[in-house]
Amino acid sequence: MKSNAASFESPSTPVESPAWHEVVAAPWVGIWQPRRTAAILAAATRPAFWASYAVGATALAVIVLTLTMWDASVRDYSASKAVDASALTGGSLVQVWREWHAQSVVGTAEWILFLVYALLPIVMGLGAWLFLPSVHCGGRIRDSLGRAFRAMTAGLGLFVILLFPFYTWIVLLKNMAELGGFPGRGFVIGTVIAILATACLFVTWLSRAVRGVVRMASPPSLPPRCEDCGYDLSHIPGDSLCSECGLHVDESLTPNRRRPGAAWQRGRSPGSWLATSIAVLFRPARFYAALRMREHDDLSHRFAVFHYLSIAAGAFSTTLVIAICEQIPIEAIIALPSFSTFFVPLVCWATHRLIGSVVTSWWVSRDRLPDVRWAATVIVFEATYLWIPCGFVALFAGSLAAFGPWLTQLSIRSPLPGTNVELAVILLGCTAICLGWFWRYRSAIRSIRWSNF
Ligand SMILES: [Zn+2]
Repeated sequence: MKSNAASFESPSTPVESPAWHEVVAAPWVGIWQPRRTAAILAAATRPAFWASYAVGATALAVIVLTLTMWDASVRDYSASKAVDASALTGGSLVQVWREWHAQSVVGTAEWILFLVYALLPIVMGLGAWLFLPSVHCGGRIRDSLGRAFRAMTAGLGLFVILLFPFYTWIVLLKNMAELGGFPGRGFVIGTVIAILATACLFVTWLSRAVRGVVRMASPPSLPPRCEDCGYDLSHIPGDSLCSECGLHVDESLTPNRRRPGAAWQRGRSPGSWLATSIAVLFRPARFYAALRMREHDDLSHRFAVFHYLSIAAGAFSTTLVIAICEQIPIEAIIALPSFSTFFVPLVCWATHRLIGSVVTSWWVSRDRLPDVRWAATVIVFEATYLWIPCGFVALFAGSLAAFGPWLTQLSIRSPLPGTNVELAVILLGCTAICLGWFWRYRSAIRSIRWSNF
């Protein structure tokens, strides 16, 4: 086994295909090494990869089917409230199987299997598309999408391993409720929080796996451009003016004059992180006009990670303060902040990636980027903008905690049918803020498009 993440540094490095049994086993034995696991799947031959996918999908289908049948078997006993001897001797799962197929050959079981097999590639394809800006470094977009899909497949083993105990526990809780021994709401809330926390970990795992399938294309050779209008300066003397817009050629081609880089690019520290965040949030056009676009390293990725961690901390503390002020029961004071600590960053991550992928797809389709990797750089720095919707929701929720449902009290009617006015304000406000994000990306592409550094 010679292929590893390092093999992907350059497309010219030959990647030796791993043995097929390594490929099939990789998603299960490689759960501690996301990058390596994804690299193995990316290097696999097509039949070996699809064998690995089929094993993962089948394991998922078997677990979902078996646990759903187990769930149905207990509900059957509790409905009659009497022990059916024939069901016990025949085995409860067999009984459920027979009931599911009493009417026709194709029963509930086949529908469950069909749903798992049909939905899985769609969900994984969507995941691959969300990660596409981090994977696509040039070449055909189909190839990048395929590699991102392979990184998603690397996570299939871990997903099944995580799903099994959670689904078992949920079925147990349901069974206890149906048989009259419900352990209490605290267990349900605890389960929801544990699922959210695990989902955060899983997303982190996938983000790491994706970096194992990146094939760093050598940077495209770009001609020197006028930073203002994009005019090709290849044959213009250094001491003259751009013949299109009149900007001095020196302005565009002297390193560090127009693009000294963000504070975060010049040095990594909490201070430079904060300074960069303030700059990108309040003056995006100026920030991107000064950003160095040709530096690609893992550290810029950390810029976004620190934002997610800060948002989690912010969500925890804000919800805790609101919960304490509201004088709700102690269980809720513990549960609500724990819930928002994981829920808010997850929603933020999904929105951030979704809008980033939409924008990148648009830029790629319109050929707006000289180097597609610049999209990933912009997306990383745009993580800062997540503070705007988070701040809006936190302030509004705080006002509700302090003054009660003041919009309802002012007799303002909800603009959205079927919701109260407070929920409508949060939904519409967040939608408007997200639409504003597209404007920011538009401003970013104008500032980076003719970057020489
Ligand atoms: Zn010009």
